[in-house]
Amino acid sequence: MHPDLEALLELQEKDKAVMAIEAELHALEPELESLDTDLAAAEEALGAARVRVEEADKRRAELEGKIESYRVMQERRRQRLEWVRGAKEASNLMAELDLARTVLAKEEAEWMRSADKVQEAQRQMEETQTVLEELRAAQAPKREELAAKQAECDDRLRVAKAVREDAAKGVKAGLQECYERILRGRAPLALYPLRNGACGHCFTAVPMHRRQKIQNGESVESCEACGVLIYDEGA
Ligand SMILES: [Zn+2]
Repeated sequence: MHPDLEALLELQEKDKAVMAIEAELHALEPELESLDTDLAAAEEALGAARVRVEEADKRRAELEGKIESYRVMQERRRQRLEWVRGAKEASNLMAELDLARTVLAKEEAEWMRSADKVQEAQRQMEETQTVLEELRAAQAPKREELAAKQAECDDRLRVAKAVREDAAKGVKAGLQECYERILRGRAPLALYPLRNGACGHCFTAVPMHRRQKIQNGESVESCEACGVLIYDEGA
């Protein structure tokens, strides 16, 4: 085999080791994402429950304000009633007082209901808070396990990348550029073996004279169709 190809194959082996660890890391992602999705849903539920409490509080405060202003108006009517002279005016004021009393009673009943709603909203918020806390607690061991796996993979990845950089030093600069360029393309690897006289990646036949050059280790040849470098496993 051509010595340049040997150095490239060595580099590819180290890259495969790096890719394998990267795949391991990648495989952890769905589990982590599913934990995040569940947590986000619980957090969102809590957020919505908080909004409902705020709204119920606001409604209750609005009613309180309304009732207060009705009370003030009612008090003024009572005071006016004390110094009113004419019987007709007094009877009008009495009717107004009666009507206002009915309105006030309605508003107060509404306020009672709004106070119940505040309590109910608070109860629901506490419930969603509990659900969220329980979910966090339930997720903790799984998250720790995943974080440990990630850390372990990261350590191995650092080592594998250092080994890969060492192997890259054994490859001529021009060839390394070519190798990196192929990797940026569609082929998952840069080097493929001859398979029954064809490219091991895209299965396009390699012409006889080039096959012989490859087999004799005379030169580094690339596939005319897909561009990967071709080596002979037997050589
Ligand atoms: Zn090919």
